[in-house]
Amino acid sequence: DTAHGVILYLEDITVSFDGFRALNALTLDIGVGELRCIIGPNGAGKTTMMDVITGKTRPSSGTAFFGQSIDLSRMSETAIAHAGIGRKFQRPTVFEQHTVFENLELAMKADKRVRRTLRARLSGEQIDTIGERLQLIRLLGEAHRPAGLLSHGQKQWLEIGMLLMQEPQLLLLDEPVAGMTDAETERTAELLNELRGKHSLMVVEHDMDFVSAIARDGKVTVLHEGSVLAEGTMDAVQSDPRVVEVYLGR
Ligand code: ADP
Repeated sequence: DTAHGVILYLEDITVSFDGFRALNALTLDIGVGELRCIIGPNGAGKTTMMDVITGKTRPSSGTAFFGQSIDLSRMSETAIAHAGIGRKFQRPTVFEQHTVFENLELAMKADKRVRRTLRARLSGEQIDTIGERLQLIRLLGEAHRPAGLLSHGQKQWLEIGMLLMQEPQLLLLDEPVAGMTDAETERTAELLNELRGKHSLMVVEHDMDFVSAIARDGKVTVLHEGSVLAEGTMDAVQSDPRVVEVYLGR
């Protein structure tokens, strides 16, 4: 992965809350086009790490670089989003009263200088882009249904599709399969595998079968007490005695 460069580089990031270190000299890098899974017990610092990357939380010390040389630690949340980092929170937030197609259309226009309205005519190219996106997120057949009528899993896919409309270089997903049925979880793994290579992804997830399905031979990072406890293939980290201890000792 690193042969193609690094999309995200966190170095020695510490975040202190009243002296408590939610992140403790965290160092981590993600390669361009990599799909990196982040696991770790509750309180390990996963959310805080995503908050630092997206500018929601300022690190007390350390540096965060995006792409070649963009220093995230000096940027606002909005500027970071515009620079190409998309984040999906656990709960889906879609426009329930609008159709699936319209949700993608609104997401496409959200960042443009175009008024955020459904009245402006779409170009043929834009319609094609939405069509491709609908296919990717398995919602081609639901295009004209109000998003509010979708299942929980379908709403999650729609939100991923909406984030992709901004063509993010790095996408952060927080527990994407939480609350999904087994079938939905399986389809989400397929979907993320299709994104692999085209986008850089950081996926925080507790469902270990899902992590195995998307990590494949790639790296999994285990966070514990605010820093990296282990990093390697899923097989390697799962058989690492320190990782086993952290999970069993909960
Ligand atoms: P995870 O997402 O891995 O469960 P978090 O990043 O949410 O972990 O939390 C890491 C640690 O930092 C936890 O012990 C949590 O209680 C603490 N923490 C997170 N945010 C705050 C905050 N705003 N103030 C104080 N402590 C916090």
